[in-house]
Amino acid sequence: MDLSFSGKKALVRVDFNVPLDKQYQITDDTRIREALPTIRHILDAGGSVILMSHLGRPLEKLNADGSINREKFTLHHLVGYLEKALGTNVHFADDCVGASAHKLAADLKAGEVLLLENTRFYKEEEKGDPDFAKKLASLADVYINDAFGTAHRAHASTTIVAKYFAKNAKSFGFLMEREIKNASRAMKDAVKPVVAITGGAKVSDKMLLLESLLDNANAIIIGGGMAYTFFKAKGGHIGSSLLEAERIDTALDFLRKAEAAGVEVLLPEDSVCADKFAADANTRVCPSGEIPDGWMGLDIGPKAVESFRDTILRANTIIWNGPMGVFEMPAFANGTKAIAEAVAQATKLGAFSLVGGGDSVAAVNQLGLTDDVSFVSTGGGAMLEFLEGKELPGIKAIHEG
Ligand code: AMP
Repeated sequence: MDLSFSGKKALVRVDFNVPLDKQYQITDDTRIREALPTIRHILDAGGSVILMSHLGRPLEKLNADGSINREKFTLHHLVGYLEKALGTNVHFADDCVGASAHKLAADLKAGEVLLLENTRFYKEEEKGDPDFAKKLASLADVYINDAFGTAHRAHASTTIVAKYFAKNAKSFGFLMEREIKNASRAMKDAVKPVVAITGGAKVSDKMLLLESLLDNANAIIIGGGMAYTFFKAKGGHIGSSLLEAERIDTALDFLRKAEAAGVEVLLPEDSVCADKFAADANTRVCPSGEIPDGWMGLDIGPKAVESFRDTILRANTIIWNGPMGVFEMPAFANGTKAIAEAVAQATKLGAFSLVGGGDSVAAVNQLGLTDDVSFVSTGGGAMLEFLEGKELPGIKAIHEG
């Protein structure tokens, strides 16, 4: 963020899409806390800050008469928190564009903060409407994008708005810089050997990730529910484990490609199987390709843990996306826990580890291991797309002139 902010108004796209309780109190302030360094930096450098964000999906949850439920979706709920966190007054514009927003932005003095109303009150936001984006852009001198979590969307406030700022008048914020730097360190700038750990429910959600990993990883671990489609594809018996029958060919094709590319693919040799999808199910350990009828694999087994751990400990770079089992139920959380511990141990031994994109983040947080891995991404879908090798529109828009 090496722009000069002195005397400038900075339009900062943040991700303030925080969970609120029934009294509209913030129940998890992580996203706001993460954005504070960028805001403070601009204020300290003599600039003023115009914050914009979305909150929820107001246009999908309209009132019965078709109007926007402003009471529920207003960003005004955040003003008190922000004032306390920043130690300064926060002005609020009850419309993110239009005359009132303009007047408030124009009157803003160095060191002051203005929060704009929810950008998703306008359908033009998600459509990436150029006129709407231009109106947002007209409020400020420079544009800062610090909302990594929405960088994969070509929305007006995340991407299109950047087109109205010259190359030397736009930048990433600190949070976004950190996400990009770490994701690059795990992918194109990675120190080999690279071990990718994939898991979660569905092969279909992770296929693009797996394909992209063929170009970057030396070994790919496949755990979680998605592993059983691979066992089925290899002619195994998987009982009533998760199966995406229409992905069997894709799975086989992937295994062939991996072999041709010299990328090792590790599937869980054994599984913790259950006789129903429930926390109190009866359980037994079976080979993952020999699961009896009426039983389903809900976690990786002890042999799989051993083999995955050995591979993880040999890595210099680790990318982890997706849990190894149904970690929400204690009976099926051991595999994910053991893998998280192995990642933490490898990190201690000097490996770089990135946890990103969805439920593995929740698992690492739940286990209290967040500080024992190198980087935990805040951007679920955005990080997944980055790891899939896609160019995120929000990143591209900052790089373009
Ligand atoms: P994802 O969002 O794709 O990372 O998937 C995460 C979800 O996958 C979690 O809610 C897990 O409970 C679920 N999951 C992981 N392993 C299994 C499994 N063996 N069978 C069913 N669901 C699983």
